[in-house]
Order: sequence, then C-alpha cells, then structure tokens
Amino acid sequence: MDSEQLETLPISRSEFSKLDVFQKVSFESLAGYLLACQTFTADIGTVVIDPSHFERRLIVVLDGSLEARSVNSNGLIYSTIGVGQCAGEMSVFDNVQPSARVVAKEKSRLLIIPANVAMAMLNASHDLCLNFLRILSNRVRNNSNMVVEERFHIRCIEENSKVDILTGLHNRRWLEEMFTREISRCNAGNFPLTSLMIDIDLFKNVNDTYGHLSGDQVLVHVAQVIADNMRPTDMPVRYGGEEFAIFLPETTIENARLIGERLRKGIEATEIQLDSGETIRVTVSIGVAEREAGDSVQSLIERSDKALYCAKENGRNRVCLNTGDDSLYLV
Ligand code: GH3
Ligand code: MG
Ligand code: MG
Repeated sequence: MDSEQLETLPISRSEFSKLDVFQKVSFESLAGYLLACQTFTADIGTVVIDPSHFERRLIVVLDGSLEARSVNSNGLIYSTIGVGQCAGEMSVFDNVQPSARVVAKEKSRLLIIPANVAMAMLNASHDLCLNFLRILSNRVRNNSNMVVEERFHIRCIEENSKVDILTGLHNRRWLEEMFTREISRCNAGNFPLTSLMIDIDLFKNVNDTYGHLSGDQVLVHVAQVIADNMRPTDMPVRYGGEEFAIFLPETTIENARLIGERLRKGIEATEIQLDSGETIRVTVSIGVAEREAGDSVQSLIERSDKALYCAKENGRNRVCLNTGDDSLYLV
C-alpha cells in the first residue's frame, strides 16, 4: 500500500461511538488497544485488501467508502462498505487468503487494526464479539442470497437459449439434449417411441404473397395447433424454418398416424386471421417413423424425414409412415 498516508491520529470517543462495528461497546474497554492502531487516508482506487499481498488486519471505514470486488468473476462487485463498517474480518478470524479485492471507492479515512490487536479486542469485549457475529451473519446471508439469485439467473438464461422466440416452442438445441435422453431411455427399456416431422406446404408462397411478418404469424399459428394437441409428455420443437419435429413417447406408429392426421386436419381446417386483415389457410405434410433398436436421434429423424419427403412427392397435405426398412405407406 505505497499510496497510503500513515497518520497517527487516534479516533475520538464520539467517532468511536458512531461506528457500527463498535456498537454498544464501551470506549474504555478498548481505548488501550486503539493506541496500537493507526488511521490512514486512502485515495480513490487505492487497493486496501489485495489477495495476492495478504496482510491480516481489520479495516474500519471512518469516512468515505470501499468496494469489495470478486477476484475470480471479472471484478463482480460484492458490496460497498460504508462508514462504520469493516473489511478483512474473515481473514483475521480464519487466516485464509481473502477472495475479494477491496478498493477505496472514494477518498476514504480508515482505521487499521492489526490482526493480533483485533483478536485481543475480542477477548476484552463480549459486545464486540456479538457485533462480529452479527456482521458475519449478514455477510453469509447476503452471499447466500447472491448465489441463489445468480443460479436462478443462469437457469433463466439456459432455459431461454433452448426456446424459440417466435413460437415459444423448444428449439433444436433443446431437442439434441432431450431427444437424446429420451431415445436412450426407450432403447434401454424397449419402449415405443415415434417421431413426426412436420413441414408447412409451399410456405415460400405465403411469404411471397403476404409478406414475411404474415409468414411469421402463420408459423406461430401452426406451433399453437401443435402445442394444443400434445400431451404433457410429448416433445414438440421448432426444428428450423417452417419445420417442426415431435417425439411421442409411449406411442406406437399406429397411434402416431392418428395424431399426425389430427394435426394435419386441424391445421387445414383453421382459418388464420392475419394482422393485415386478410385470412389464410395453410396445410402441412407429415412424415412418421417408429424407433428401432439402436436408433439415434439422427437415424430416427432421418427415417421420418424420408416419410415427409414421400408425403411432399405425393401431393402434400398428407401423412406418410415409414414402417421400417424404409417401406413408405401413405395415409
Ligand atoms: P414445400 O411444400 O416443398 O415445403 O415448399 P416450401 O415453400 O414450404 O419450402 P421452401 O423450403 O422452398 O421454403 C421454405 C420457406 O420458409 C423459405 C423461407 O424463407 C421460409 N422461412 C424459414 N424460416 C422462416 C421464418 O422464421 N419466418 C418466415 N416468415 N419465413 C421463414
Ligand atoms: Mg422445409
Ligand atoms: Mg415447406
């Protein structure tokens, strides 16, 4: 701490009594120990606790304020330490290197209490011990709250990164994760599982005729019809562009055919009211395939994709089943 200006001024009784850390502590009980302490003035930006040059000492802010910044998280600010509050107490008690760098937030006058003096003060004053228990409890509580909030924040970011903003359905990133898990579970237990690939027919025409924003509205509508027809265990995703994929756990290809037909008819039957005032109907083609032993997400999706291609080739607005060995069956 080269920039510190060491002073010899003792703190007065009235100043002492205003400091939170000495709340309810008698000045007389600690006056002798205070003689062994120093005050100094730290200019703005002065590092007063540096984990790489660790000195065990307690710092009490007499004037100004300090800022504790995390060393490991890009200087994330933990807290501001104001008049009457202290820094460095944890390292005084446990002799462990501090995890935060403490810097003067403004020009600040500080009381420096060497670790051995601080420990002697604690021995001399029960009230001072209680004050430190309170201070440490607050620190633990604040830190726990911060961790909980941060975890929640991270969870939100993770969740958002797996949701398609336009339709609200999960996206391909989520698919990779969840479908992989689901297909392993079904492979292990030999449970039925089917996959549907859904593609909006001639969607390019919708964009070309009504504009891209109307195209977006159609995508939202189709996603809504799909979501409305799903059970809680079904797994619909926006696979990309105007394509949707659905995994149906515990569902045979025969039942998947019925679900596919229901979706196809539901989409065909609904008039979509565009913001422009116009109405439009779209149709979809659907390819269905059933899990086979040893399938991966990719191999199962590829088989439903083949069925989808067949539905397109055969006039669109149809469901086609891939019944194994790439035998295609038009519904
Ligand atoms: P097909 O029946 O063979 O599937 O014909 P299609 O016109 O649907 O297929 P094509 O692949 O030629 O066109 C898909 C169009 O989807 C082209 C692309 O501009 C559009 N598209 C992809 N993503 C979006 C989106 O997020 N919003 C809108 N409005 N359009 C999109
Ligand atoms: Mg497509
Ligand atoms: Mg299409």
